[in-house]
Amino acid sequence: MQMTKAQVLAWLKALAAEYKARKEYLTELDAAIGDADHGINMDRGFGKVLEKLPAMEAKDVGAILKDTGMTLLSSVGGASGPLYGTFFMKAGMALAGKEELDEAAVKTLLETGVEGIVSRGRPVLEDKTMYDVWKPAVDAYNSAVDGGAQLDAALDAAVAAAEKGVEATIPLQARKGRASYLGERSIGHKDPGAASSHMMLVALRQSLGG
Ligand code: ADP
Ligand code: MG
Repeated sequence: MQMTKAQVLAWLKALAAEYKARKEYLTELDAAIGDADHGINMDRGFGKVLEKLPAMEAKDVGAILKDTGMTLLSSVGGASGPLYGTFFMKAGMALAGKEELDEAAVKTLLETGVEGIVSRGRPVLEDKTMYDVWKPAVDAYNSAVDGGAQLDAALDAAVAAAEKGVEATIPLQARKGRASYLGERSIGHKDPGAASSHMMLVALRQSLGG
């Protein structure tokens, strides 16, 4: 099974719409344990990506993802700009020249992107960050593909794991980012970056259709 370039472009468009619609929700999550800008950051970043999409459309998937990362890096302040920017830049560089993505290529996208997040933020599991969504999602995706699953089923598995991951951030005490300044007061709140990462995976699955 393949994810076409048109579906990758549809994913980025859907993310711009989703972060616009969820701007207040993400900002409320960040108001509880951060500085109330996560929704604003995601909306601004993917709004810029949406503006640049027409100029990207003729490029290959790798170049589109790389441009997306550079756009996020240059337009989003805060922790999430460099983290998501690096995710898309690294994934795009690893997929240079691709016009569509099969199971192995989406594995590369997810793994390389998450390596980018790790290299930037040095998160470990249970730090209460977006990594608590990405790590189980990538593991679930990989074990599904290793077991012979097609792209749609493997992404279903990733989304299910991401869903659990985002809920599991609630009881954790933050050890990275602004939320860590709150110490024990960060307990009992969902991590905003984990929530936006879950949305990213849901939109990826939906852009594939079926
Ligand atoms: P800022 O914290 O600078 O205001 P945002 O509010 O846009 O930036 O993003 C906050 C999110 O970034 C957090 O909810 C968390 O998921 C993520 N985050 C922060 N620091 C790190 C880190 N070191 N590693 C991974 N993710 C991080
Ligand atoms: Mg913030």
